[in-house]
Parts: sequence; structure tokens; C-alpha cells
Amino acid sequence: MKIIAFDVGGTAIKFGLVDENFNVLFSEEFPTNTYKDTDNMVLRAMEAKLKEYEGQYDAIGISTAGQVDFANGVIHDGVGNIPNYNHSDLRGVFEKEFNVPVAVDNDVNCAAIGEAQFGAAKGESDFLCLTYGTGVGGCIYINGDVYRGSKYAGGEFGHMATHKDGRPCTCGRIGCYEAYAACRVFTTSVSERMGKPMNGREIFMEENLQNPIIKEEIDKWEDEIALGLRNLCYIFNPSLIVLGGGIMAEDMLIKDIREKVDAQLEPNYKHVRIEKAQLRNKAGMLGAAYLASERLKNWNK
Ligand SMILES: [Zn+2]
Repeated sequence: MKIIAFDVGGTAIKFGLVDENFNVLFSEEFPTNTYKDTDNMVLRAMEAKLKEYEGQYDAIGISTAGQVDFANGVIHDGVGNIPNYNHSDLRGVFEKEFNVPVAVDNDVNCAAIGEAQFGAAKGESDFLCLTYGTGVGGCIYINGDVYRGSKYAGGEFGHMATHKDGRPCTCGRIGCYEAYAACRVFTTSVSERMGKPMNGREIFMEENLQNPIIKEEIDKWEDEIALGLRNLCYIFNPSLIVLGGGIMAEDMLIKDIREKVDAQLEPNYKHVRIEKAQLRNKAGMLGAAYLASERLKNWNK
């Protein structure tokens, strides 16, 4: 059994083949706008790969940006930055064209499922997962499954308000958590104050960590991350929170966040474990592959 898995983001699409033990046999990525002159560039891009590898997979798993109608495999909303992608019926189109089962879910949900099956949350039936990148994504995992909400839009922690009358957010409202806690906000702020572009990896280089501006910016950013996590701890009383996004690989960051969250919690909340995601940039593909394997079990029954 093999599964072809995609992870669709605003700038790049990753894809790969996964075997029955969920080993990623190979993976590649290409720009999301590779087929920008077509009516639906993401659908066309995936279709091209599905044709290229046809016969080599038994199911298709798709992890994607946006809110996904999981029951039907349709992009629901929330991908305004990819033209004509909203409302794409990925399952309907690809199951008909390629005659194999297709599973589609939101990228943070897929990452959480990946972590639950194979990574930092292995064996856990309840946890929260947040990813820090261009924005902040979230997933609520309860009783061994994703809690998706009444319209597949649950767990959008990035748009809970943490600052009344705060900064504008990309969603059009103000004071959202991600307008303060997204990795992009942090790197932009550091770059502006340092007078040169710096990415997360550069900021956390040993020689930069003693710079007073960088120290101050890291401290401020950790406070913003911790503020949102504190709120989530009081709502969910979780035993585990998994933090993803490339920058969360920094041990120092996770350690500081743990301390800052712990300092704000009452005794019955302090047991929460805050761990970094383990599957890194494979989490979405592996979660999607897992969902596809589940759909394959009931295929043709
Ligand atoms: Zn917002």
C-alpha cells in the first residue's frame, strides 16, 4: 500500500509517497503558483503530480491551508491568498478522475493527526496543537479525534483576541493573537529594529542571542505566545500542548515558554506539558496520509 500525500501552503506545495508503515519514501516541493495561468492552480498542480505518479499509489491524502469540509473533502473557505481555490471539490474531482480514495483536511489538523499517530502526541487522546508561522494555526484534539467545530472552523486560535484595541490583523479585525504571536510578526519586528532582514534561524544563532535588541524582542514574543497559551490552558485544562512551526525547534524558546506559561497558571493547570512538534515539515503529509489510509480501509465496501 502506498499513499501520495500533499501539503498545500500559500507559497509551496510539498508532496511525497508514503508506504504502509508511514515512512516517507521521497518528498519534494514546488511553488504553489507553478500553474498560475490556469483557472485553479493548486488543483492543476496536484492533478499533474497525480498523473505523473498514477499507478504508484492506492490513496491520496491532502493537507491544505484553509478551512476544509472534512466530511466531503471540499475546501470551505479561508484561502483568499490562492485564487479560485475556495470551494474546490478536491475529493469529488480526484476520486472521479483517479478512482482511489481521497482524504482532505486542514493543514494544522493534519499536523496534529501526524503528531498524534507518529510524533510528540503519540498515544495521547487529548491535546492542543498550535503552529507558529505566517499566522498562528490551531487544532483541538479530543477523544482521539480532531474537534472540527460546527462549520469546520474550530481551533482558529490565531484569531482569538488577546489585545483589546490592538494591532490590525490580516483577517480585518484588531488585537488578534497572531498579530502578536506569529513568527512572521517576530522576525519582521527584529529585522526592522536591527536594520537588516533576519529569519528565525539567524535570530537564534549563538552570536546574536546576547544582542540587547534581540534579547528584548525574544522576551516580548515569548510573552505574547504565553498569553495565548495561558488562555487555552484555562479553557481546556489540557495535559499536553504541542507547538509546531520551524522556529519552535529552538530548545531555548520552548523552555522559556514553559516557564512563562507555568508562572500564570493555578495549581490544577500546572501539569500541562508543552512540547515541540517532532515531525517538522513532514507532519502535514503524514497526517494526510493517515487519513487517506483510514478512508482506504472502507473503500469499495
Ligand atoms: Zn485575526
